[in-house]
Amino acid sequence: MKYTKDDIKRLIEEEDVEFIRLQFTDIFGTLKNVAITASQIDRALDNQIMFDGSSIEGFARIEESDMFLYPDLDTFTIFPWRPQQGRVARLICDVYKADHTPFEGDPRYILKQQLARVKEAGYTFNVGPELEFFLFHQDENGQPTTLTHEKAGYFDLGPVDLGENARRDMVLNLQDMDFEVEASHHETAPAQHEIDFKYEEALTTADNITTFKLAVRTIAKRHGLFASFMPKPKSEYAGSGMHINMSLSKDGGGLIRHTKGMCLITNPLVNSYKRLVPGYEAPTYITWSSTNRSPMIRIPAARGEMTRIELRTPDPSANPYLVLAVCIAAGMDGIENRIAPPAEIQGNLFDLSASGREQYGVEPLPSSIDVAIEALKNDRFIQNVIGEHITKKYIQAKSDEWNTYRKQVSQWELDEYLFKI
Ligand code: GLN
Ligand code: MG
Ligand code: MG
Ligand code: MG
Repeated sequence: MKYTKDDIKRLIEEEDVEFIRLQFTDIFGTLKNVAITASQIDRALDNQIMFDGSSIEGFARIEESDMFLYPDLDTFTIFPWRPQQGRVARLICDVYKADHTPFEGDPRYILKQQLARVKEAGYTFNVGPELEFFLFHQDENGQPTTLTHEKAGYFDLGPVDLGENARRDMVLNLQDMDFEVEASHHETAPAQHEIDFKYEEALTTADNITTFKLAVRTIAKRHGLFASFMPKPKSEYAGSGMHINMSLSKDGGGLIRHTKGMCLITNPLVNSYKRLVPGYEAPTYITWSSTNRSPMIRIPAARGEMTRIELRTPDPSANPYLVLAVCIAAGMDGIENRIAPPAEIQGNLFDLSASGREQYGVEPLPSSIDVAIEALKNDRFIQNVIGEHITKKYIQAKSDEWNTYRKQVSQWELDEYLFKI
């Protein structure tokens, strides 16, 4: 344990912290918070801060809506981008019900359950994510656009480029919050960036992903830019992934068995499936390989302690707690039940013909969210991991999203059909 209650009270005093944000996420991974003033810290540390769960998407019905926030003391962090006097800190919290038992709809609880299982089996699960995102312009009302400042085009940044400065500022702020940033670079699409931070044990990584997105969005705004983690903002360019590097299972058999059932969690939006198309370095088939980048699971060349697998399906719109929970569970299923992975696919998958795919038994990833919804409905194992509560609310919300979407007539349809038909 890093901090005791007394440590936190001392830090609040010493660092002149005025507000403490008590944070948690809803089932879709959206960050929520209640701010308290420093005078209320004793109540917070004694798990007495309440909120109305019925107002949070996917949480509770009106009748059973009183919930408590239990801060995880080790997550105490001061936001470096807020003022130096009257500073703002945060604590990430677990959500408990009125009867003081953990709430089944809290994604952090779902992940903790899987971690307990891993620990019992004598493993540690380390995860390092790679998050990609776009930095776009805002319009004169501060609203997001898909315009980019990078007029020059595809790969590089000019010396006076705003994106480059914003990215450096993001890295500095993350470091102030104890992130060990390993790399940051421009990605293939104009205005697309990536920042990678060091692997950690899974709960810390899930918390870090949440904090990372908040920091990136906040710093982007300070540079007059808008950061988007949308999986595929522009059809003609690569989308943004959230590759998950993990070391627990070395063969990936369980991950492959549960890929389809996990997909609604790893790729939760209608838009997510527009990223999973050929030609943009995103996976489209359920395969693994140690030699090239096109497969869904890659075993990077590093060996020894750094031997790991990289799952390339997830995108940054996913709830990181649920993503890591299903990855762990699927990996453990593979180990415990000795699920043999299918044969490795060498060479470039995008070049593999339909008959080649058939020969190797290669299956495609779900092509749209409705396919992924059906796949989760057919995977009892993944349903058990995320629990009945989240399964039900999640499938309901995603079905609503799909039903709304499929009624829309797109610009593509008008361009394609209006004059021709
Ligand atoms: N942007 C690609 C994706 O959608 C990944 C590109 C890369 O990191 N090689 O996952
Ligand atoms: Mg990378
Ligand atoms: Mg990348
Ligand atoms: Mg990668």
